[in-house]
Order: sequence, then structure tokens, then C-alpha cells
Amino acid sequence: MKRLSSFGLCLLMALTTLAQNTLQHPDQFLGYTVGKRFSPHHRVLAYAEQVARQAPSQVKIIPYGTTFEGRQLLAVVVASEKNMARLEEIRTTHLKQIGLGNTPAATPQAANSTQPPIAWLSYNVHGNEAISSEAFMLVLHDLLNPTNAVSRKILSNTVVILDPGLNPDGHDRYVNWYNQMGGVHPDPTPLAREHSEPWPGGRYTHYLFDPNRDWAWQTQEITQQRMALYQQWMPHLHGDFHEMGPESPYYFAPSAKPYHEDITPWQREFQQIIGQYNTRYFDKNGWLYYTRENFDLFYPSYGDTWPTYNGAIGMTFEQGGGGRAGLAYRKNDGDTLTLRERIDHHYTASFATLESVADRPDDVVKNFNRFFEKSLTNPVGEFKSYVIKTANDEGRITALRKLLDNNQIRYGLAGKSQKLVGFNYQNQKNEAVTMESNDLVISAYQPKSTLLKILFEPKSTLEDSVTYDITSWCIPYAYGLKAYGLKEKLTPVAYVSPATATVPGATGSGPKPYAYLVRWQSAQEVQFLAGLLKNKVRVRVAERTFKQGEQRFEAGTLIITRAGNERLGDRFYQIIQQEASKRNIPLIPASTGFVAEGADFGSGSVFSLKNPRVAVIAGDVTSPTSMGEVWHYFDQDLDYPLTLIEANSFPNASLAEIDVLIMPQGYGYGKILNDRTLTKLKDWVQAGGKLIVMERVTSFFAEKPDFGLKKKVDKPDAKKEKTDKKPDTDESLREYGEREREAISEETPGSVYRVDLDRTHPLAFGYPNGYHALVQNVYDYDFLKDGWNVGYLKKDNYVAGFVGKNARSKLNNTLLYGVQELGKGSIVYMMDNPLFRGFWYNGKLLFGNAVFMVGN
Ligand SMILES: [Zn+2]
Repeated sequence: MKRLSSFGLCLLMALTTLAQNTLQHPDQFLGYTVGKRFSPHHRVLAYAEQVARQAPSQVKIIPYGTTFEGRQLLAVVVASEKNMARLEEIRTTHLKQIGLGNTPAATPQAANSTQPPIAWLSYNVHGNEAISSEAFMLVLHDLLNPTNAVSRKILSNTVVILDPGLNPDGHDRYVNWYNQMGGVHPDPTPLAREHSEPWPGGRYTHYLFDPNRDWAWQTQEITQQRMALYQQWMPHLHGDFHEMGPESPYYFAPSAKPYHEDITPWQREFQQIIGQYNTRYFDKNGWLYYTRENFDLFYPSYGDTWPTYNGAIGMTFEQGGGGRAGLAYRKNDGDTLTLRERIDHHYTASFATLESVADRPDDVVKNFNRFFEKSLTNPVGEFKSYVIKTANDEGRITALRKLLDNNQIRYGLAGKSQKLVGFNYQNQKNEAVTMESNDLVISAYQPKSTLLKILFEPKSTLEDSVTYDITSWCIPYAYGLKAYGLKEKLTPVAYVSPATATVPGATGSGPKPYAYLVRWQSAQEVQFLAGLLKNKVRVRVAERTFKQGEQRFEAGTLIITRAGNERLGDRFYQIIQQEASKRNIPLIPASTGFVAEGADFGSGSVFSLKNPRVAVIAGDVTSPTSMGEVWHYFDQDLDYPLTLIEANSFPNASLAEIDVLIMPQGYGYGKILNDRTLTKLKDWVQAGGKLIVMERVTSFFAEKPDFGLKKKVDKPDAKKEKTDKKPDTDESLREYGEREREAISEETPGSVYRVDLDRTHPLAFGYPNGYHALVQNVYDYDFLKDGWNVGYLKKDNYVAGFVGKNARSKLNNTLLYGVQELGKGSIVYMMDNPLFRGFWYNGKLLFGNAVFMVGN
């Protein structure tokens, strides 16, 4: 919106006051002009509540949750009086039309011309991109301004939902810090302290996850709560408001390539329409902007792509600024960027975008409904059904069901046994598969069909390789599922949860077994084990496969004997019962410690587990998200104690109380790792400590005395070949315009590799289906000469995703996970991060193995 002249403003304010009686402007409510300072989250919400009180017939507040730090989450619905009076009817009719909602059998109905489109604008998902919440207050106020013709047009036919702040913990982390930095005047000098946000920064959630990478995976409670509400509304349009570096101007749609191939022609067309509306306003104001660069539509877990794969028009808006910009920031060109300018741009983009919907409400509704109609009758993709084997895979199936439920993807059971042919994700071959009646079946003929297809596609088609994010996310690989994609349509029967197994002996009656056995199969068993260890239950592990009666048990099976746990009395049974039933873990009673094949339970090759005291290096040497993933894993997944050590106190800290020390990915370790601290670490490992070193941190240990990690050396004959061979083209003669593309030839922005595993090593216990890693870094480490090469890549292990040509050759004959024994302790080198974004479910078992299984 063009800003009004002061005379016009006065006149309008007078008219507004007459019309609305007392709708308060945020300036009045806050006691300062918007843009004068940053507003804490509770003040932003208080303003929304004030407006709702003053305009109850047009504003409805929907509280939808609470953050980990106790801040409130809410959405604000703004509509005409007429639409507000029938809001619930609008919502339920809309869901019914697309086959969602409370009537799962519903089929899409013909579009009803009285259905208004629903436009949802999300502000401030990244906490330190704090202008969005300020812009929200102005948008809310001006939408209700009856003298504003654009607002009147929007509300006449569109229901608007505004989320004032998606990540309030991050927002307040930034705002509270910034407000402590300032004096009377903001200092625009870039090197002023107020432009250097300290670690971990306000971008992230409480657990330092990036909430704009979490839409599909929903690992964070703020995402889960928001997505539950979002899917009750299924908006036709979703706008996601961000900031980027302060030197950049403004970015809006159309998005950059790559576009995912399943984005519909209508969605592509609307990217252009949004662009035209925004262009018109930005041109009129003489503001700089760009389109079609940097922000693509591919990775499915963003605030633009996830809504797009759910039928909506999804887009990102980016204002130059962010955590560095503060109240005022002097850019390279000498101009000073102010907070108010940044706010005005988001305000304008919000209105331009809402207007683009309000100008064609019927088209928007019709095309949205068509998306869902096609999903039910002619879904995208070659697979029309997916069959997931469930036998002996309870943990992975439980995790998968949670993911599907959170995304409202429907599934059921096969209901009968049948011989079929399908694409086996594990070996990537079309082959015969016997579907059992208890196997999970997902049909592509359902409302969420496009999202399902994209989450399950074995290879995602990249139209252009320069992308912003990982290029493969295939759920059967991420979850380690025994899954098949089928070309035929299967109709599943209703899902019934398997009956909870009763624990023999746990009720106090009947014979007490000699031991309980638990198959070590997935991250769920790691949770179970953590629960037992925390309760001081002694647990033993079979190092080798064994057979008892007719049953075969793989290496890694937990053996929980009465012997050694006598001190717990009857609590022993209660704890086991409680920890197993929490996760529906089958307990197998054993009446004897004798085995038919393998080692008896009292054998030396059945080792005892410790109750390790675990610590992680936190603070500014680490990458916040990598540290956060470890923290979240222990706190939320395992509910197992983890000590966070402030990095700067590490050099002088005593490690005597720690059994396991984790060093997550980070770029600042040079500050704390030197000859002295490496010697200290080595002494601690030799005395029995276990060190887990992740990703780039491994480079501090490579080539260091006593640490076994070595860079690959070019083989002499290979070198010779290189120099002898005349290059076809001179590499110096490369094109400047191709530099971005060339840079990525050295990289893999997240591709899937099938890892060769030494499954006899405790680090690889529990992987009957093998392991697919999401490889994001290229390391050139040789196999350990003195240690165990547990996970590695030989030739041709590539499965999916983009890998640059030079990177691809380096990802041959290379080590991914290695274990070095040193004195009484061990070092686990992890070149790949199995906890990445908390969504690679199958990696959580690998990390659990590193913490609990290795080195006993
Ligand atoms: Zn952002």
C-alpha cells in the first residue's frame, strides 16, 4: 500500500474513528510508533486481542498451542461480518469439498460459488527475522479499516488468517537481546555490537531446530501444533514472511527454479500473478526487489513447498535485514536501512498478495478443488499404492504412522495375503512381493496424494541442480522401511493397532521368566533401553546371533535377566512393563539362559551395558542446529540426561564425570581444540571415555598423533594417469557465468547413499534392511588401518539426489562411520550426521548405538 500523506492520514483516521468507533492503532496501543523498537511477542498478541475485543464481529482469535518456553501460539481470523457469522460452516464445507475433515469417506464436491478462498499469512517463522510480527500489527489494523478500498475488497470475498509469530521463543530470544544492546540512538555501523547476535541466535526454535525445514517432519512441538490447525483450514494460499541478509533488497514470487515436477500449471501461473501484484506496488514506491532467484520450490518441508504440495499457492517473501540489521544498518552502498522501511515492505507485500486472491476468488477455489479431485481420481506418480512390510518392524512402523498421521495421509492394512509385483526401495528392483494381511498399505487415491508421492518418490527429478537444500528425502530410505511401490490400485482395510502384549510375570502372578528378550530393531528400542538404564536396570546384549527354541535372534538383542537385578525387587517387572508398554515393545520371555546356537546368556560375549553419563559441547564453536539435534534427541526422543558443556569452559573442564562426550558439527572448534586439549581428550579416552566426533569436527583429529583418521592419498599410478592424460579441454578456460554451477560440482547438497555396513559391529546393530545415509559432505578419509570401518561407501553406492561430478568420484571407497579403540575407551568418527533435522528416523538407531552399544 502506498503510504498516505499526513493530511490524507488525518482525514482517514477521523473517518476510521467514526466508522469503527475505537479501533486502536498499534502506535497508540504500544505507546510507540511501529518500527521505533522491536515488540516482544506478548505485546504483539496483546494487540491482536485488543483488536478482537474492539471488532468481535470481524476478528476471531484461535489459540492453538504453547511453545516449549511457555509462550502462546495463536492465529487471528479476519473476515467480513457476513463470513464471520458462518465461519465454521465455511471451514467444514471447504474441507468436505476436498475430501478431508471429519468425514474421511467424503469425496470432493462441486465447488460452491459462495465459498470464499482462505488466505493464510505466516509471520516470523525465523525468530530473528523480527519485522514480520511488527508488520502483522499494521496489516491487522488496516484490514479492518473500512475506508481502505483494498481492504474492503479483500474482506468482501476472502477469509484471512494471520499468524503473528510462528516461533515466539526465537523471536523473544532476539528481541530481548537486541533491546539490551541499544542506547539513545541505534548505531548503524555494521561492526557495532548490536549487529552481532550471539550464539545461537534467534532464528531457531527452543531446541535450535530450523522451523522452516520442519513442515513435513514436524519434529518440533510448535510445528505439530500449528500443522494441526493449518490442516483444519487447508488454506488456498499460504504466504511465509522472512528476512535475508541486510545487503539484499526484497524477494517475492515467482520462485526460483527448481520447481518440483508435480507443481501444477495453475500453481505455476499463480506464482506469476503474485509477482505482478507485488511488482505493481513495489514499482510505484520505487523499491528494489528481485524474483526467480535463490528461493526454489523443491524440498518439501518449507513454508512454501509444503502448502504447495497440499494444493495451495505457497510462496516465500524475503526482506533484506534479519538479525544483523537491528533498528538501523548502514549498507555497503552507504544507505541506511531502517526497521520501518523493512516493515513497510512486508506490509505492502501482504496486501498485494491478499489482493491477488480477492480479485479472482472463484478461480482460486475452483483450481484448489480440482487439485483434490485429481488426487482422488487420477493421482500423480507411477505408484498407485505402497506396501510396507510390518513383521518385526514395530518401531519403524510406529514412527511412520506418526509421520503419516501428522500429514493427514491415510493408510490401512492389506487385510489379505496376496502375491504382487512392486518396486523394492531397498534394492531398487522390480520384483515379486508377498503382501501379508498385516502389512501397511497406502493408496495414492486420497486427498493428500501429491504430498504422499513426493515424500515417497525414490528419486526426485531436478530440473536444475542449483538448489538451496537437500535433494532427496525419500521416506522409505529415511525410515529404513521394507517398502514397495506398486503400479496397481490397492484398497486398504481399516487400520487396527496390534494388541498390546502383556508382560509375563509382570503382574506378580504366574512363573517369572529367567530373562526378557527384546529385539534391537529401531530407534524405539533405543528409547526403551534409555528408560531401563535411567531406572538402573542392568541390561545385557548379545554380541552375536543366537537361537533359542525355534526363534532366531540377531546380534544386538537385549537380554534382561533377573540375575543382576535382584536389588530392584518387584520394581524390576514394573519398570520393564512400563517402559515396554509406553512404546508397544514386544517382550519375549525366556525360561532359560541356555541357547541352542550362539552364546549362553552368561557368556563373556554377552556384554553388559553401562548407564553412561553423556555430555555434548554446546556454544559458539558448534553449529546451533547440529547441537540442537543432539540435545533434542536426548531430551525429547530418549528422555535421558544430557549435560550441555559450554564450549569456552571445555579447555579447563574436568572430564572425570563424563563417560560419553559428543562433539557436534561446528566451524569454531579451532578455538578449543589444540595440542593440549587433544592430549587431554586422548588421556580421557584411554582411561575409558567414549568420544563421538561429528562431521567437520573430524578434521581436527585427522592426521593427529594417536588418532587414526587419515586423509586419502592419491595412489601413485592414478597420479601418473592424471599427468599423462591430455585433458580434452583446458580447465583454466572456464566460463565466468557458469561459476555457480561449477562450484556445486564439488558438493552434494544432501543425497542418498546405501552404506556398506559391518553388521557384526555394535555400531551397526539392528539394521536388517541395511542403511541409507543422507550424505551432505564430501570427506576424503581413508579406511581406518587400526580401527573398525563400520559404515563405508564402496563403488556405486549412490541411490538418489544431486551429487556434483567431482564429489561423486570422491564418494567412492570412503569411510563414513568408523570406530577406533584407544586404551580402555573408543572414538566414534561420524562423517555423516544421522540426526539431521531430526527426520532421518533410521539414523537415530545408529546414534543410539554409538552412545550405548559401542565400546562395552
Ligand atoms: Zn527466514
